[in-house]
Amino acid sequence: MSRFFSARHRALTPYIPGEQPRDMQYVKLNTNESPYPPSPGVKAAAEREAGRLQLYCDPECTALRDAAAAYYGVGRDNLLAVNGSDEALSFAFLAFCDEDRPMAFPDVSYGFYPVFADVHHVPAHIIPVREDLSVDPADYCGLGENLVIANPNAPTGRLLSPGEIRRIAASNPDNVVIVDEAYIDFGGESCVPMTKEFENLLVVQTFSKSRSMAGGRLGFAIGHEALIRDLNTIKYSTNPYNVNRMTQAAGIAALEDNEYYMANCRRIMEDRSYTASELETLGFSVLPSSANFLFARREGLPGGELYRSLKARGVLVRWFDADRIRDYVRITVGSREQMDVLLREIRAILKDRSEEK
Ligand code: PMP
Repeated sequence: MSRFFSARHRALTPYIPGEQPRDMQYVKLNTNESPYPPSPGVKAAAEREAGRLQLYCDPECTALRDAAAAYYGVGRDNLLAVNGSDEALSFAFLAFCDEDRPMAFPDVSYGFYPVFADVHHVPAHIIPVREDLSVDPADYCGLGENLVIANPNAPTGRLLSPGEIRRIAASNPDNVVIVDEAYIDFGGESCVPMTKEFENLLVVQTFSKSRSMAGGRLGFAIGHEALIRDLNTIKYSTNPYNVNRMTQAAGIAALEDNEYYMANCRRIMEDRSYTASELETLGFSVLPSSANFLFARREGLPGGELYRSLKARGVLVRWFDADRIRDYVRITVGSREQMDVLLREIRAILKDRSEEK
């Protein structure tokens, strides 16, 4: 820390993104990226725009918002394009919370929520999930606070139904209910249609997972015009050109090639069931997942040890050294070939351990 660092931020513990190693080629199952490349149309669109990088991009993302509005079945003014959904979440903490208006969220959820709370000086109201790591919707009904729920939740993969989100939104009419749908395309039902009914419901989505664009940084916030106007006030006060020209064009092309991405999601869902049942055969408990990852643990095999052994064998998964979830690892569902490598290495680790005993 330099002596110039603001006293406001001295106690800040930043978010730690998953490893992006450069030292060797891993089977990379640690940051929930898609194993499939962007569609040819997306590559062509980004390349075309690369030749125009001397020009600023459209700060309003008009063409992209029109395409996304048609896809989501909402109006253009119900939608804000962002530099990855992290940006939408950060804007929302800034726009709707302050020292006296906390943000509530589950204790086991996306690790960035407490960091947004800290950096924006917003009190965090942390609500424990149930013993089985599921979110109890009753904890959020009539809460009277702004809240954010990842649905499906991360890193558990557990899903709430639209009916449960409806009850939460309806019972907190004076607060903003944010549903982070980063993983919704892997089998969940989106709450986007419900944003027409509830002026306090904000849905956040990303193109990082189901649309193979993690490196392009594109997400959307979807909700009532007034909520989107507030987010725009924050955007135009911080970074008006938040979505670059290549990404805007790539986003439009990704929507045009929607069927390609939905087919990839179906493959990932099939490989998710395959991997979950193979892991169960190997003695793992696997939480029911509606996302492109599995959260799994095995009695007598500490999560940290499994993570390290897999890494030594060239397979990268995510381990969180945090209360309640230390025994688990989170495994991104990659291609079938990648999952077979993972399973092969887990079998070898289990064999080595049983021989040591
Ligand atoms: N929400 C959740 C629940 C996530 O897991 C992630 C990915 N780390 C994000 C939001 C942010 O994704 P991105 O900024 O790439 O859209």
